[in-house]
Amino acid sequence: MKVQTIPVRIARNPHFTTNCYVLSGVAETDELVDVRVPEAQRTAERDIAKECAGGAGEANPVKESSPGTTEIAVVIDPGDQPERILAALGSAKLVAILLTHGHYDHIGGVASLAHSSGAKVYAHELDAEAIATNYQQIRNGYAAFSKKLYGRFKDFHNPLLSNIAPRVDVLLRDGEHITFGDINLEIIHTPGHTRGSICLYDQAGAQLFSGDTLFKGTCGRTDFVGGSPASMHTSLQRLKELPPETLVLPGHDEPTSIGAELELGLSEY
Ligand SMILES: [Zn+2]
Ligand SMILES: [Zn+2]
Repeated sequence: MKVQTIPVRIARNPHFTTNCYVLSGVAETDELVDVRVPEAQRTAERDIAKECAGGAGEANPVKESSPGTTEIAVVIDPGDQPERILAALGSAKLVAILLTHGHYDHIGGVASLAHSSGAKVYAHELDAEAIATNYQQIRNGYAAFSKKLYGRFKDFHNPLLSNIAPRVDVLLRDGEHITFGDINLEIIHTPGHTRGSICLYDQAGAQLFSGDTLFKGTCGRTDFVGGSPASMHTSLQRLKELPPETLVLPGHDEPTSIGAELELGLSEY
């Protein structure tokens, strides 16, 4: 079975959406032991899980697709609405939650999904620190941002989820490859939007999950805490080296490709 990518558009309000991506594949059932957090580690957090599941419910049942193998899934940037993401998983077992960076609009559903599935949470070491120490600041910053833009933040987030900081289990670094069954992703550290922003490159599938680093026709903002125009410029130079046919799946708005962005002047972003 080919690795599939299912986009889930997370809508916080009619004007602001974040793209979550669900990758589904197949793993040897034996492999799954290593990629999940031991149950004992989760025990102390079970009450929180109940509280924050918010309709997400218990982990979906594992389905063996053929003897010795299991349908698995990886989620990238679950910004909110975990119940919709779980629905997109179908019968696949969620084994990992990958974060392109630590901004609130990309991590609002992490705690619920992690606690209900046991999946490990992966992020770059620089943004993992920010998630751990500045979570309330991130949350309040986005609430204020939303209020400024739209004059309200009543519907901007799920208040139950927003008070629980996600826990990062695995720290990522540039150049690493992470493998879950037949899903293989290379970590490209692309600071600029945040210090610990990463892109996730699926070479076999010719697709790049670009977070808030590269969008259709532009790049991510560099004026938030930890942002740097100079770092963004350097990061975009690296992305230019990818094959032009590479599909770019960003954290917001529509997909694009490296080739299309080169034509639009990727160097000048
Ligand atoms: Zn962001
Ligand atoms: Zn974003």
